[in-house]
Amino acid sequence: MTTHVTIVGGGLGGLTLARVLHVHGIPAAVYEAEPSPTSRAQGGLLDIHDYNGQLAVEAAGLTDEFRSLILEGRQEIRLLSRDGTVLFKQPDDGTGGRPEVHRGELRQLLIDSLPEGTVHWGHKVAGVRAVAGGYEVAFADGSTVTTDLLVGADGAWSKVRPLLSEATPEYRGTASVETFLYDSDRRFPATAEAVGGGMLLALAPGHGITAHRERDGILHAYVGLARPLEWFDSIDFADTTATTARIAAEFEDWSTALTALITESDTAPAFRPHYGLPIGHRWERVPGVTLIGDAAHLSPPNGEGANLAMLDGAELGIALAAHPDDTEAALAEYEQAMFPRGAETAADGAHMQQQMFGPDAPHGLLADFVAGT
Ligand SMILES: Cc1cc2nc3c(=O)[nH]c(=O)nc-3n(C[C@H](O)[C@H](O)[C@H](O)COP(=O)(O)OP(=O)(O)OC[C@H]3O[C@@H](n4cnc5c(N)ncnc54)[C@H](O)[C@@H]3O)c2cc1C
Repeated sequence: MTTHVTIVGGGLGGLTLARVLHVHGIPAAVYEAEPSPTSRAQGGLLDIHDYNGQLAVEAAGLTDEFRSLILEGRQEIRLLSRDGTVLFKQPDDGTGGRPEVHRGELRQLLIDSLPEGTVHWGHKVAGVRAVAGGYEVAFADGSTVTTDLLVGADGAWSKVRPLLSEATPEYRGTASVETFLYDSDRRFPATAEAVGGGMLLALAPGHGITAHRERDGILHAYVGLARPLEWFDSIDFADTTATTARIAAEFEDWSTALTALITESDTAPAFRPHYGLPIGHRWERVPGVTLIGDAAHLSPPNGEGANLAMLDGAELGIALAAHPDDTEAALAEYEQAMFPRGAETAADGAHMQQQMFGPDAPHGLLADFVAGT
């Protein structure tokens, strides 16, 4: 079976690419490991930026639908010290360019915008190899497809990446534990007040709590620590009580309004280690294959990854539409813009990680906020 564009991975990057191709009348097939769109919780709020993610939404022809997903007021941002003192607060005055939407709702919008059958759910790619005239994609169930244009949109642990590069993600020295507090205004008013109307950052050297106010008073937090992987390996995450106590002990001298995000979680703390590809990861052009999103330029969370994945998908789709008879020209044009963009964002992200977890926290980030950078 041969498809014009074969996309591995139905995250925000792969789906945006498929949608932009569809807008331009180019058929695509997306092979996604997950069995269905709802088989996994899709994470929390994403701020979609006017300089990258929103450009992709526009290219996808979905701006009105996107606007209907925006959670009003969530662009408020505040920076706290460990004792709960508010060091910086930027209200949401309606003029910001980073509206927040639920990742799952944005993903569903993209899925619904594709022709029926575009996404092949439950197709976990086990490996890819070059064959005469293209690539063979082998699935975990033993089936295969061949294609002359293959796009790896399969995230951090991409199975397509080895066709282009030997790079693999490395642990970047920090990890988060993901927690949720439900009905927080009623049950945990001090914590709800500390998080405020949008996003909270509470920092101290080696420690960083990020939290968002979602719908219905839900507080969604990432409790971050700068510790080696071996330190986390010693925690049995299947034991919720012990894990909570172990993580909370690292925040002993913090305000209880903040530590409630750990100790009172309504969900079992979920471990999210932060990995990255080398900053400036790139490859020589290889005919008929490229990467988008985290597969190309994975970074520790810095608020840009989903935005970049969508912009990559949109720009690749636009380039393919602009060069219908010259796929290589399209891939080269896409990569020429993507490589420096990915490198610059990864470098900014490394700076942000340092400001969040380094010895100057929270004052380094405070200086950046005050300077408007
Ligand atoms: C804790 C955390 C918080 C974050 N917060 C933000 C944020 O606030 N803002 C932001 O912009 N970014 C954020 N990011 C980064 C963002 O999540 C990623 O950069 C973004 O999801 C990348 O999109 P993608 O489409 O490239 O990859 P992914 O979203 O990883 O999608 C890849 C898809 O490929 C599928 N797949 C994987 N392997 C296979 C396979 N072998 N076969 C078939 N399918 C496969 C997966 O199931 C998945 O659906 C955060 C990341 C983390 C870890």
